[in-house]
Amino acid sequence: MMYNASATRYDNMKYNRTGKSGLLLPAISLGLWHNFGGNDLFENGRAMARRAFDLGITHFDLANNYGPPAGSAEESFGQILKKDLAPYRDEMVISTKAGYYMWAGPYGEWGSKKYLVSSLDQSLKRMGLDYVDIFYHHRPDPNTPLEETMAALDLIVRQGKALYVGISNYNPEQTREAAQILRRLGTPCLIHQPNYSMMSRWIEDGLQDVLAEEGIGSIVFSPLQGGILTDRYLNGIAPDSRAAGPSVFLSEDAITEEKIAKVRKLNEIAAARGQKMSQLALSWVLRGGKVTSALIGASKVSQIEDAVASLNAPELSAEELEQIETILRG
Ligand code: NDP
Repeated sequence: MMYNASATRYDNMKYNRTGKSGLLLPAISLGLWHNFGGNDLFENGRAMARRAFDLGITHFDLANNYGPPAGSAEESFGQILKKDLAPYRDEMVISTKAGYYMWAGPYGEWGSKKYLVSSLDQSLKRMGLDYVDIFYHHRPDPNTPLEETMAALDLIVRQGKALYVGISNYNPEQTREAAQILRRLGTPCLIHQPNYSMMSRWIEDGLQDVLAEEGIGSIVFSPLQGGILTDRYLNGIAPDSRAAGPSVFLSEDAITEEKIAKVRKLNEIAAARGQKMSQLALSWVLRGGKVTSALIGASKVSQIEDAVASLNAPELSAEELEQIETILRG
């Protein structure tokens, strides 16, 4: 049946300004790293993308290598656009990235102009798009001069293949330098995409200050720690969970009793607030307004609904934040 987006899609979502730019991003964005690949059920991914858009999630995050196989998440998303979402292209912010291994030979990964320009051309073909809204350098390259990588991002914007550019996984010093080069070139750095969750807090140690000083937004990936900061693993490892599946990024060994004991206690705070564990984890990364968007993954439509509903909760109180700190330190 033909898809018609919900008329109420903008009623509940919060939109935050990305750094000092003109671009607003939804407080919750959807990433297509897992569950949208060629080995996954296309109709499930399609249903998740449609539901997300109906709930005001205007931002979909991809990368050249998402799958598996690499490239297939972009292909699936291209199909979802063609079947459902293409009429809404101007209401969507679509991002992709290059940096990790994508193809054989010396030009298939890292940060050369050769790789970044070719990779984005391939991504645009796979998604059937003329341009992406945000193009990221996915990880710092220790061997390519940062000037070259940033000049490639600037070129891509001038070619009209991306509207904005960002960086991912750069440390505070690399971020400062990248921002300065991009500003000189006339293409400001819009956004940084780092990992951030209750269990991974490195951005508090310098990066957030640099982002504030440079006027760069942040979209934080894996805010649920791949599912650990949810109720997923409170009663063992469910067969349909990421840890039980083929993903090499979350193995059963990562679900330790020590982590789950903490999640159990955090879950009590969530329950006292009338939230699910996953919702508390999202309220926490978004607390105080420093983060532009929480970039979640999902394997089911209901998980996207949970995430968006987390925005209705009250801000975390000083007392709740202190209780959370105590549990995380414990
Ligand atoms: P999350 O930490 O949000 O983990 C998502 C997983 O958590 C889901 O697949 C699901 O696991 C579980 N989950 C989600 N909601 C619920 C819920 N309500 N109840 C129970 N379980 C839930 O993020 P991801 O690790 O998936 O990463 C998100 C996005 O971040 C990626 O798609 C990608 O776009 C980006 N990313 C970027 C990186 C970078 O280097 N720039 C690196 C990694 C990610 P299950 O499958 O078990 O149901």
